[in-house]
Amino acid sequence: MTVGIVLVSHSAALARGTAELAREMAGDVAVEPAGGLDEPGEPLGTDAVRVADAVGRAASGDGVLVLMDLGSAVLSAETALDLVDDVEVRLTAAPLVEGAVAAAVAAQAGQPLDAVAAEARRGLAAKQAQLQEQAAEDEPADAAASPETVDWQRVELDVTNPLGLHGRPAARVVRAVSQFDAEVRITDLTNGHGPVSARSLASLMALGTVGGHRVEVSASGGQATEALDALRSLAGTGFGDDETAAPVAERPVTSPRAVPAADAEATIQGLPAAPGSVLGPVRHLRLAEVSRPETPRGSPAEERRRLTEAVHAVRGALEAAQRDLARASGEQAADVLTVQVLLVEDEALLGRALALVDGGAAAWDAWQQTVGELVSEQRRVGDEYQRARVEDIEDVGRRVTAALAGVRAAQVVSGEGVVVTDVLGPADTAGLDRSRVRGVLTARGAPTGHAAILARALGIPAVVGAGEAVLRLDETQPVLIDGDTGAVYVQPGKALRREYQERRERAAEEGARAARAAAEPAVTTDGVTVAVEANAGAVSDADAAVARGADGVGLLRTEFLFLDRDTPPGEDEQAETYAAVATRLRGRPLTVRTLDVGADKPAPYLRQPHEDNPFLGVRGLRLGLAHPDLLATQLRAIVRVAAAHPLRVMFPMVTTVAELAAARTLLDRAREETGLAGVSLPVGVMVEVPAVALLADAFAPRVDFFSLGTNDLTQYVLAAERGNAAVVGLGDALHPAVLALIERTARAAERHGCEVAVCGEIAGDPHVAPLLVGLGVRGLSAVPAAVPLVKQAVRATATDAARSLARRALSATSAGDVRALL
Ligand code: PEP
Ligand code: MG
Repeated sequence: MTVGIVLVSHSAALARGTAELAREMAGDVAVEPAGGLDEPGEPLGTDAVRVADAVGRAASGDGVLVLMDLGSAVLSAETALDLVDDVEVRLTAAPLVEGAVAAAVAAQAGQPLDAVAAEARRGLAAKQAQLQEQAAEDEPADAAASPETVDWQRVELDVTNPLGLHGRPAARVVRAVSQFDAEVRITDLTNGHGPVSARSLASLMALGTVGGHRVEVSASGGQATEALDALRSLAGTGFGDDETAAPVAERPVTSPRAVPAADAEATIQGLPAAPGSVLGPVRHLRLAEVSRPETPRGSPAEERRRLTEAVHAVRGALEAAQRDLARASGEQAADVLTVQVLLVEDEALLGRALALVDGGAAAWDAWQQTVGELVSEQRRVGDEYQRARVEDIEDVGRRVTAALAGVRAAQVVSGEGVVVTDVLGPADTAGLDRSRVRGVLTARGAPTGHAAILARALGIPAVVGAGEAVLRLDETQPVLIDGDTGAVYVQPGKALRREYQERRERAAEEGARAARAAAEPAVTTDGVTVAVEANAGAVSDADAAVARGADGVGLLRTEFLFLDRDTPPGEDEQAETYAAVATRLRGRPLTVRTLDVGADKPAPYLRQPHEDNPFLGVRGLRLGLAHPDLLATQLRAIVRVAAAHPLRVMFPMVTTVAELAAARTLLDRAREETGLAGVSLPVGVMVEVPAVALLADAFAPRVDFFSLGTNDLTQYVLAAERGNAAVVGLGDALHPAVLALIERTARAAERHGCEVAVCGEIAGDPHVAPLLVGLGVRGLSAVPAAVPLVKQAVRATATDAARSLARRALSATSAGDVRALL
């Protein structure tokens, strides 16, 4: 239940429009318009009965806040109070529009009526702050005036990375800005939050800026232009998220396996966070005992020194942990700690606490109060991922608290085993003593959280989000955690322990064997060769592909060349890049996919209109054909490189034969224009739209190969958006309906003598390889790290047995049944 909101206006349209705006920010809140008179055409005026009805509709038990515009609106609302019973109604003088939005966000966050009303009253604060600046800016330039007040430059930027300005992207903004002599502020134009200083990580994270929002960046000072340029190019890379997606994507995909028949005494199901399994005693990670130091409060100068020393000590420890992590697991893993390093000295945290100290507070009290306030502010942010950054603030807060109390480490573990805790901050994970920690089990947290990312990087099996029950486990109890399935067995019996031990030994042996044979071709036991290639999204991925024994690159996602900039790459630049990938592959084939951007991955220079359903909109080849010059330039670059290297070209998101024909016409023209009409360049389509699989017989004679993009195919077959966590269980590529389309495509390919491969994520799952072979697939393209094991899986496959497996899978009724078969 949440507080309901009623909007009283003289204009029915204004009330409705404002309600729509508020619902946009907080969809679950009952926001009821009560505008105009209850007469035909809803003439201007206010009507107490209308207001009372709206209150009745908005009431849910937690009370109703009523916002009004002018004059008689207040009277009507007051009268309405007499007409409603049993509902706690509060009238507020808050501004109608801003107040409604602020109130809706607070109500959505579950705040009580008083707090929602207070938020509504504060609704104007951001605008007031902004306009004060503008007033300063508008003042006539005065030779003596400070230059900061006269020269503001502004740009508007789209936030394209789905998670927006969460921890690390926000940290990159702070880092980028801190290089310049400029004051930089950011306002989220979509949710109206801000402006905040771009030097404050905590403030940026509290903006609530997520993917799809637009922000305004304003800068003043000597290097304002440079600072804006830096932020513009950072925004072009999805605030660095485009690059950092790689290490996670690098993980081979493992399909959740069936949990073995347990003879365990208790089984808890959590979320798989880092692969591998481990058995060990429960070791609760405990907060070191920290109590308020006895030391009497010193002078403001002494308290200031105490706090800054504690903060410096924590910062030093975090940086040391970061260096260790960089050495052990690379710079990208270490980057996870950047948020903590920046937060600890953030002006919104340390700056505020020091201000309290200067006002006479003890360092300890000032710090506790500031952390508490910041945590509440961050909790108010609407987006779940950003709210999760509360962990970072709490983590830093705890560390400084411990330092203030003179306790060296914030968290301690009593001995070797499986570390069990509520939630693990990234610095805790990095600081974990590897000789003691065999695995990690947390009550809260998500597989996308920092702890999970780090555990994966460090090779520690981890299960997260297993619920509070794990916090009550006895330290004398052994626990077995399975980081591939999320299963947790408490006091596992002998048989189960043995089974897992054998599994671990087998996995280690298999990994070593597969790595040794990685460069050999993958041939089934009865002599069918399956090309196992790698997916690449950067030039350097070609090196990883070769190192992992890939037979080539089966999918070069060329988007990396197009998304991080203000203008599209030219023909020469593209040709150089494709040639660089091909050269690194040393003669292995390279399949270049043409540009696959669209409304869900917008390229700034394309200026695409908003689409309500971008996954059903202008993306992939549709976009290429809508911008033929863009596609033609890319095709010319591809043709040029094909003259010197074994290239293939493939079109994404194809739906109709006519689209394919149009693309081929552009390709023919590109051949003519480059004078390379005779160059060998096989042409393929990605099978991502069900229509192509269903009409595969019509497409097959027109192409040299099919590549099944099962990521998209699955979302379209099962109507489950691939990035939507709420339907993640539904969008399973092993669903028999998806398999049926794979088989249909493979059969058509066979009939017409064209090749067929899979390049979606399932191609990287060694358990699935026999099934795909059985369905008629003869090529697999996966993340480089998965290649050795996938090849090994193919080598262990007999096509007859694989065909019979495929038949059984096709007659199954659910993805779960198919997994059981595997
Ligand atoms: C797919 O859809 O399966 C695919 C490989 O393309 P992407 O993941 O790049 O959309
Ligand atoms: Mg796709």
